[in-house]
Formats: sequence, structure tokens, C-alpha cells
Amino acid sequence: MTRNITLIPGDGIGPEVCEATRRCVDATGVKINWEIAEAGADIIEKYGTPLPKETLDSIRKNKVALKGPITTPIGTGFRSVNVAIRKELDLYACLRPCRSYKGVRSKYQNIDLVVVRENTEDLYAGIEFEEGKAETKKLIAEIESLSGKNIREDSGISIKPISIFGTKRLVKFAFDYAVKNNRKKVTAVTKANIMKFTDGLFFAAAREVAKQYEGKIEYEERLIDNMCMQLVQKPELYDVIALPNLYGDILSDLCAGLIGGLGVAPGANFGNELAVFEAIHGSAPKYKGLNKVNPTAVMLSAVMMLEYIGESDAAKRLDRAIAKVIAEGKSVTYDLKPNRDDPTAVGTSQMADAIIAAL
Ligand code: NAD
Repeated sequence: MTRNITLIPGDGIGPEVCEATRRCVDATGVKINWEIAEAGADIIEKYGTPLPKETLDSIRKNKVALKGPITTPIGTGFRSVNVAIRKELDLYACLRPCRSYKGVRSKYQNIDLVVVRENTEDLYAGIEFEEGKAETKKLIAEIESLSGKNIREDSGISIKPISIFGTKRLVKFAFDYAVKNNRKKVTAVTKANIMKFTDGLFFAAAREVAKQYEGKIEYEERLIDNMCMQLVQKPELYDVIALPNLYGDILSDLCAGLIGGLGVAPGANFGNELAVFEAIHGSAPKYKGLNKVNPTAVMLSAVMMLEYIGESDAAKRLDRAIAKVIAEGKSVTYDLKPNRDDPTAVGTSQMADAIIAAL
């Protein structure tokens, strides 16, 4: 059976890493009809928006998408298309496994962590009030009157909503993942000692969910600052880590650093019925079109996608082929060589060729 999957190449390095990945997935023999959908700054002139309705409709229809990174220009009118896709489709759980691959240089070995990040709430909700605007002044006055605390009048304000509903479904996702994947422990992470009514609520709601898994999966809590130090010092103590949106974003990059960098860190965003697979890394605009960057992160996201659509055998074969090529260290991109100026480094597309040959 041929399966329809939406492919959003994105911008910057997106199209090249997605094309390399598409070729590898097709080479596994799984029959996929890739429905190409556009998004990003480059298409605003054509559609009047960086996120056309057609793209969202394609994901809704096919239920599964593979997505390249999309640039978020700083200081311009539009917000992140990546965040908008997650919010529009209610892809509430972002899953980011961080596993060491032999041959990837890192200060750490045998890392096997899974970050589960909430995707729809927190400071990413996009509710912001610009400094100096009339509504911001009104809000400051209202907050001062309600809280009895002063806010400097030249402040900008970002709102941090965290709900019981949003937290419970995220933490349940983390526990269900743990059960399904033979994991032992879920660690919830916030700064609840300071933000009692948002991060404190996250812990309280997480504890409620954890009760349903008592005896099966261990549950513990950490504060985010301490967790950063612990992960750098003794990452082997942790397993599945569940966090609100912003802490999850930051900790994902920290965990990617533990396994050798963004070039090898995959991810996926899940809703109740929809799933969008994408690497942690961004569009790295300075490498655009150079056939230089590492396609592994998007390829490993595609491995997760194959697993998700029930193509477990193809997922394992692709994972093994990627691992083999990286371990050999010959046909790999510059970032996987001991010396980044190594002239034997191959391009994005040649690394894909080597992976296809290893399948
Ligand atoms: P980035 O991840 O694009 O790049 C940071 C650095 O990491 C690069 O300069 C490069 O040295 C390295 N890197 C990233 N991907 C790599 C790969 N595949 N192979 C080898 N090296 C790689 O982060 P940034 O520079 O902060 O962001 C660039 C743009 O991407 C911004 O507009 C940002 O908003 C956007 N972004 C998008 C997503 C997404 O689409 N989900 C995620 C993060 C950032």
C-alpha cells in the first residue's frame, strides 16, 4: 500500500537535508507518495502568508508530515512558522530522543535520554505586549492594581499560561512513551520554587498523572537550574524528561550537545491524530545550498516516522545504515570528522548515497 505523507522542505538547509532523507526513506522500499507543501519566508509573496492553508490542510489530510527547518526572521512582523504549525494542529507533545551514536565525537558516551516538551503553552503562547503601547500600559496598571506590585512603566510583557489540561496530557504522553519503550523513570522539570502558580501547577498536575503509573514507572521532580548541572555531570541518572515549553526547548539543545550536536538530534511533534517529524536544528542559513550540512538529524526523525507508521523493519534498517556510515567515519559530513576542515568530508547528498548503499 502506498501511503501519502506531507513533505515540507522548509528553507535554508531544509530542502537539501529533506531531499537526502526522502531518498533514503524511499530506498528502504516503503511506498510513500510525498505530497510537497510549502511554508516559510520565501513564499510570503506568493501566498500572502508564510503558512498557507493548503499546507495545514495537507498535514490534516495525510496525518503525518516530515518537515525541514524554517527560518524565523528576528524583528520582523511574523512569528515562528514552526511554532504556528504546532499550535494550529495542536501538536502538544514534542518528543526528542538523544542517543549516542558510535563515531560521533562527544565528551559523553552511552547517552540515552528522551526529552518530552510541551508544545502549546508557556511563554511560547505568543501572548506578548510591546513596551510603550497603550494596551501594555493598561495591562501594567491592571496587574499593579490586582497584585499590589510595581512594574516599571517601560516594560514589555510576555504571558506564561500553563494549564492543568495541557500539563496532564503532556505528562501522560511521557508516561505512555515510557511504558511502551521499556523506560524506567519520568522526571518532571520546572522552576516551581519561583513560579508557584504556573510551574507549581505543572508539578501538581504531573503528580496526579504519575499516580496512575505507580509501580510501573518511577516519577521524580527536579528544578531546571539544578537539572542542567545534573545532566552535564551525571546524565546516566536520567531517562524520560517532561517539561513545559521553554525549559524543554533549552534542555533539548543541552541534550543534543551531550550526544555530539544538533546535526544528529531528531525530533517529532505529536497531537491526538497528527504527527510532524522534524530535527531539533534550525535552517542554518549560512550553509544554505552548499551541500555541506549533516542530514542525520532529519534522517533520524524519518526513522521515528517510519516506526510511527508501522514500518518498524524499515525504521530499524535505516537506523542501522545511518549508524554504520557514521561509525565508519568515511562518507560523513564535515561536522562528523575529527577536524572540521578535513578535505575528505563529503556533502549532504553523498552521505545519503553512502547510507543508501549500507541499507
Ligand atoms: P541552527 O540550528 O539553524 O544553526 C546553529 C548552528 O548549528 C549552525 O550554524 C551550524 O553550525 C549547526 N548546525 C545546525 N544544523 C546542522 C546540521 N544539520 N549539520 C551540521 N551543523 C548544523 O540555529 P540558529 O542559527 O539559531 O537558527 C537559524 C534559523 O532557524 C532561525 O531563523 C531560527 O528561528 C530557525 N529555527 C528553526 C527551527 C525549526 O524549523 N524547527 C528550529 C530552530 C531554529
